Amino acid sequence: MADDAPPCPECNQPLRSGGLVLVGRDDDGRRTCRALWRCAGWHMWWQWADRPDDPLEVCPVPKLFR
Ligand SMILES: [Zn+2]
Repeated sequence: MADDAPPCPECNQPLRSGGLVLVGRDDDGRRTCRALWRCAGWHMWWQWADRPDDPLEVCPVPKLFR
């Protein structure tokens, strides 16, 4: 798939979108979507769906989304 998925920051394999989760954000108290990403090595990352320029963060609860 030739979309604009970023590489995994840890192992540099292409990331695949794992969908969206709705979570509360402490910054501004809003409920906002996180975009999930995972690579072939099962690293999980996520970022704010409305802040695509922010760096990927390690997903703290990967078990929930397997
Ligand atoms: Zn990885």
